[in-house]
Amino acid sequence: MDGLALAEAVAELVRIPSVNPLHTGPKAEEHGPPGEGAVAHHLAERFDRCGAVEVVLDEVLPGRPNVYGRFPGRSDQLVVLDVHTDTVAVEHMTDPPFDGRIEHGSVWGRGALDSKATMGVMLALLDAMHRDGLRPDPTLLLVGSISEEAGGLLGATRFRPWVEQQGLRIDQLLVAEPTEFRPVHGLKGLVLIEVTTRGVAAHSARPDLGVNAIDAMTPVLAAFAAEHERLQAVPGATELGSGTLSVTRISGGSGGNVIPDRCSITVGRRIVPGEDPGEVLNELAAIACAACPIPCDVVSLLPTTPDGKPASPAFYQRPDSRLVQFLARTCGTEPTVAPFGTNALRYSGLAEELVVFGPGSIEHAHQATERIDIPDLRRLADVLTSWLAPS
Ligand SMILES: [Zn+2]
Repeated sequence: MDGLALAEAVAELVRIPSVNPLHTGPKAEEHGPPGEGAVAHHLAERFDRCGAVEVVLDEVLPGRPNVYGRFPGRSDQLVVLDVHTDTVAVEHMTDPPFDGRIEHGSVWGRGALDSKATMGVMLALLDAMHRDGLRPDPTLLLVGSISEEAGGLLGATRFRPWVEQQGLRIDQLLVAEPTEFRPVHGLKGLVLIEVTTRGVAAHSARPDLGVNAIDAMTPVLAAFAAEHERLQAVPGATELGSGTLSVTRISGGSGGNVIPDRCSITVGRRIVPGEDPGEVLNELAAIACAACPIPCDVVSLLPTTPDGKPASPAFYQRPDSRLVQFLARTCGTEPTVAPFGTNALRYSGLAEELVVFGPGSIEHAHQATERIDIPDLRRLADVLTSWLAPS
């Protein structure tokens, strides 16, 4: 397919700002209200124009709908392509974020790489198929989901029960993210907690009258360090390796001459297949409480999943599955696992096969400039065409 047509299809989406409201700022808002509303409505219209038989705008939050388009196939297979519609902030960008210029063989602007490239290419392919009177082999459900970059994967969280309500059986689910054309078949999950120790404030000249909440946190930090060491000694059952634990934030104290009455830490525990997020949360609470000499609270910092868990479990798909092997073979790449979170964390068990895949590198996402190269768009168009096998 013509590279320039693909580039235009991606640029058209880059020109519609869709900064996640949790990433917004003055620079983003110069171009309209934050959020995915405008791009979702644009996609609904585009799905309709390229032959969708059903288009659904599913309002997840006020003004922030997911969008679903169904393109009927020739077989009874059902595949889903999920592309998040939000982008990260533009405040730190050194480039015009939304001009979608096509220059030096690339499309430039926020979202070009992460992840509007895949949606743009798919739309260009669907346009061409519609024009030529072709249909894909599997039925395609094309999904634009909100709130992947921040806010707890709300779009994916909403899409899952929608699929279940519709009674859909999904054969293959592809989640678009920059993976350098490598099929990603596993991701760790994340349980994120805050531990707070509660002491008693006093003048620091009379520490005997207070209870120092920072001192009380010291053995908790040591206990978590020991837990990380213990996890490293447990051999990983999959390519994802072992779980890890990191203390990522600490705060406490109110003045140089005051015995602190509280201290808080944030702890991130990356979980691997087989670990239950609820059980991990309980274990972390038990470790903190056993180590802490004074009362302490442990709370989960992530929104509860629809099935009442403090986080999603790890996602893992066998590397010898049909979709992983198809993508690796078609792209000449190796299957891999990845350390970052994506919508796939919400989709475990929703489809026969689940893979994260897309052009470009995560290492270049979220930066001061963002671009996707036209040869990558062409390569992606070839892969998606093989996947859908239109005729
Ligand atoms: Zn992304």
